[in-house]
Formats: sequence, C-alpha cells, structure tokens
Amino acid sequence: MITIRRILVPTDFSECATPAVRYAAELADKFEAELVLLHVVPDTVLALPDAVMPTPTPMTDLDTLTESGKTGLANLITAMKLEKYKPRAEVRLGSPEQEIVEAVKDLNVDLVCIATHGREGIARVLLGSVAEMVVRHAPCPVLTVRPGTC
Ligand code: ADP
Repeated sequence: MITIRRILVPTDFSECATPAVRYAAELADKFEAELVLLHVVPDTVLALPDAVMPTPTPMTDLDTLTESGKTGLANLITAMKLEKYKPRAEVRLGSPEQEIVEAVKDLNVDLVCIATHGREGIARVLLGSVAEMVVRHAPCPVLTVRPGTC
C-alpha cells in the first residue's frame, strides 16, 4: 500500500519552479499529506566575494541569508495563495542537491516534486543539475514537472 504523508517541493524561487509548487500543493491536498517547501541557500554564496580564497562568513551573514530564504518562502506562500495547504517552510544552507536529498531523509518525505529546470533554465538539457542529482539520489519517488505544464 502506497502512503503519501509528506510531499517536498524544493524551490530556487525561479519562474520554472512555480508549476512544481502548484502541483505539489494540489497533490498534498488530494492525499491529505503535509506540504513542505524547501529553499537551500547555496553554499557558493558563502565564498563570495572572494571565491578563490574564501574567508569564513560571519554568523550574522549566515543568519541574514537564512532569514532572506525564510522571507522568500513566506512571500511565495502569500503570492501563490498556499496558506490553505498549511505548508511547512524549510530553509537550509549548503549544496542544493545534497541538502534536498538530506531533507528528504530527515523529514521522511514520501514524494518529491521538482521542476526540471531552474534559474539557468537551459531548455536543451533534459534536467537541470540539481533536478538530475535529486532524481538520482532521493530515496523516494521524484515527480519532475516541466515549466508550462501546470
Ligand atoms: P537549472 O540548471 O535550469 O537552474 P536546476 O536543476 O538547478 O536547473 O533547478 C531545477 C529545480 O531544482 C528548481 O526549479 C528548483 O525547484 C530546484 N532547485 C534548484 N536550486 C535550488 C535551491 N537552491 N533550493 C531549492 N530548490 C532548488
């Protein structure tokens, strides 16, 4: 018996991610599952401005980045009118693909809904790099959603 209690949808806040968020929300509603929105603040930003010799990022900067991720998710929930799904909003710091897969494990996610493309949005590749790694490594089924399909 397949049970879907928790659906995770990662977002990089790009336009491409929007249909996957909509899909995840409606599936969560149908399955009476919890909807989890996840944004990963990429750890590459921690090495800026000097990517060659990165200096340690002060804690306050990490807090600011995490806070802006939380604000981004809150704004998305409002903009897409997702409040009725009572979504859980998660922000993590690190490598997006690794953190998404870790979140799937930590939160016992039953289904991931992810857009095929994101900020780079190179249409000639089947999947963006994050999407591909999540499809390869997530321990649960992954539904990929192409932009413009929802
Ligand atoms: P592209 O190479 O076209 O940018 P990606 O594989 O990076 O494609 O992105 C595909 C999808 O993966 C995004 O639409 C988003 O759902 C998810 N994703 C990418 N980066 C992040 C991130 N930092 N946090 C959460 N989700 C992300």
